[in-house]
Amino acid sequence: MMLKFKNIHIYCNQANNLDFNVIVPELRKYFPNIPIDVRHPFLNKIDSVLAERLVSIRISDIKRPFNEQPRVKVQGISDQNIVYERNLRDLIHTSNSSSIAGRRHKELILYDGFMMQRLFETMIGENEANTHHVHIVFEDRLICTFSEEDWRYHARTILGGSPSIISTTGIIEAPAKPKEWYIKQMQVAANDISSDGDQNEIASSTEKEKYLEYGDCRINFAAVGYVLQALFFFITEGNPFCNDINCRLYNAHWQEEVIHSQIQSKRLCNKHAKLLHKFNAI
Ligand SMILES: [Zn+2]
Repeated sequence: MMLKFKNIHIYCNQANNLDFNVIVPELRKYFPNIPIDVRHPFLNKIDSVLAERLVSIRISDIKRPFNEQPRVKVQGISDQNIVYERNLRDLIHTSNSSSIAGRRHKELILYDGFMMQRLFETMIGENEANTHHVHIVFEDRLICTFSEEDWRYHARTILGGSPSIISTTGIIEAPAKPKEWYIKQMQVAANDISSDGDQNEIASSTEKEKYLEYGDCRINFAAVGYVLQALFFFITEGNPFCNDINCRLYNAHWQEEVIHSQIQSKRLCNKHAKLLHKFNAI
């Protein structure tokens, strides 16, 4: 049975790098009968209790499942991790775009996606915590989920559910970049050239077209695709992903696949277009 939701609530991220004046009209083409509203960031006010919860769902060892993570005892409200969580919004706002672009992968903090989803679920207002409302949270923090197949955490872009979480950092960091990018990074590391510098400086413009970077306006089209995946999570009863690389529901593991399905192809396959038509006709 298809879940017929009646409202779509989108929570914008703090980094303010998405253009919802582009994203929402694009979504309305797919869901012309459903009201879509854009709200302030989900984690708009972070008190020390919430900050401590966020610290508690961080992943410090990607090779251990959540319940085996080493736990760091929080040292009161002046604890640097608590301060970080409470001030992340200001940190994002004060850092200029070039320093965001130059942020190194190793500095990123990972959060268990399912634990974050569980935490967020408790924060949804009672009158909107039902199947009529779909909540989609754009979050700057990087989420990851543990895979029992290779016994390690993997960064994720999207987690469907209540609420669905789309990590804006995940859009950039989770799908792998072209192999040449990693080779170049290794060369840079080996030669110790501007290791804190802007990665964009060392990539040619044709290479840059193959992946999304911080500040790339094509991220809006990728965001549309991830919102569609979040919505199809409900339309398809939890299995939104498609095997057709030309479809926006394609589960991309490489940046080049994201670019192909969300920016070059930018459509649904016939099967999913039909399903959407059926949904809109109910
Ligand atoms: Zn499809």
